[in-house]
Amino acid sequence: MHKGNKSYLPEKPCVFCGKPMTWRKKWEKNWDEVKYCSDRCRKNKSK
Ligand SMILES: [Zn+2]
Repeated sequence: MHKGNKSYLPEKPCVFCGKPMTWRKKWEKNWDEVKYCSDRCRKNKSK
């Protein structure tokens, strides 16, 4: 994965606050399911 395009990391906006999220190692298994940049946004959405 780090061969070739090592500078590329996917990113997408948080569905709650719209802030761009850059891919993180901890998300590598569930990147498609990540919708919020933080626990705070995740909790606020159900408010
Ligand atoms: Zn957010």
